[in-house]
Amino acid sequence: MTRADTAMPRILVCFGTRPEAIKMFPVVHALKAHGGMDVRVAVTAQHREILDQVLEIGGIVPDIDLDLMRPDQSLDELSSRILTSFGTALDEWTPARMLVHGDTLTTMMVTLGSYFRKIPVGHVEAGLRSGNIYSPWPEEVNRKVTGAVSDLHFAPTEGAAEALRAENVPASAIHVTGNTVIDALFATRDKVAANPALAAGLDDVQQRFAGKRIIALTAHRRENFGEGMSNIAAAISELAQRDDVAVIFPVHPNPNVRPVMEAALGGRDNVALIEPLDYPHFVRLMEMADLLLTDSGGVQEEGPSFGKPVLVMRDTTERPEGITAGTARLVGTDRDLIVSEAARLLDDRHAYDAMARAHNPYGDGKAANRIAEAVAAAHHVHRQS
Ligand code: UDP
Repeated sequence: MTRADTAMPRILVCFGTRPEAIKMFPVVHALKAHGGMDVRVAVTAQHREILDQVLEIGGIVPDIDLDLMRPDQSLDELSSRILTSFGTALDEWTPARMLVHGDTLTTMMVTLGSYFRKIPVGHVEAGLRSGNIYSPWPEEVNRKVTGAVSDLHFAPTEGAAEALRAENVPASAIHVTGNTVIDALFATRDKVAANPALAAGLDDVQQRFAGKRIIALTAHRRENFGEGMSNIAAAISELAQRDDVAVIFPVHPNPNVRPVMEAALGGRDNVALIEPLDYPHFVRLMEMADLLLTDSGGVQEEGPSFGKPVLVMRDTTERPEGITAGTARLVGTDRDLIVSEAARLLDDRHAYDAMARAHNPYGDGKAANRIAEAVAAAHHVHRQS
């Protein structure tokens, strides 16, 4: 390490899952581009393969990789592994600040480890609240605990900022930045447009389903494991009986998801069960699709940017902006409701057009720069570039 490095405040950015990596790679690049800070990246690898896909595409080489994922890991085991392993890393790396994202176990445990050492934490995607601690579970509480400790809160929307103020977070600690997922989405869409080979792996499936209406599906939420997943599979099975419809489903590797979906949907003519896609391919899939069916958080934010109606297979959402704007609708995991709402959008042009308005309540693609500026200001660093 050079002298100059040691004089600069060390900012340690830590994440562990695919969605965190997608939403944090623009922040890492913006911090480095700002200059004047010693920016390092730690990954817990709470997800392994699907995290690595994003690290590669996002151009991030972690300085610390804790490689903590284990098969079918319980919340208890994973939490304690993150806390103890990351604590050791913190003692070694002694950052001036931690930056975390969102609502995962990595987010919460890294925040607690930082708190135990009195290291300040900046929270990206702060202030999202469903108001129900069991939906999303355990993410609602992961996010609240992180917010309770953080001294910099990067709220993606005015609504999220309002939720923080309602919990007595000082207004001066809140920065409304937009969501960094839009930065990642725009950057990746532009990369794919400039180099279609980056997402050419979908050419076959596109040919196979030429002329059909495409439903892109994702499902992975913990609170949907069991009955919810079976209902989703049954609904898709019914929708796929239509000749004019094809379903493309990158199946999450979680053992509570894949076997259920393979048993119910494997071998069906109009259903492609495929491996999880890297981000450029998934962005292309969203562009190709007529309709998005998902229980994901990120996809709810991305879909409206492409003018694609999003049916959200959850009972509540901490992202109400898309619902209010009329581009997303909650359908839970009720089989009949999923089928009837999807069919309505496929059959009723007027209903489809009413939802398929390109609208983006989640950001303008410049969130990461705003975050970098605020972090630099908190450490009295001037822009170097
Ligand atoms: N995504 C991806 N490949 C896939 C499915 C999703 O790159 O096969 C992206 C998607 O665009 C979004 C993010 O992963 O940005 C969402 O991750 P996930 O659904 O795992 O988590 P959540 O958003 O619910 O936290």
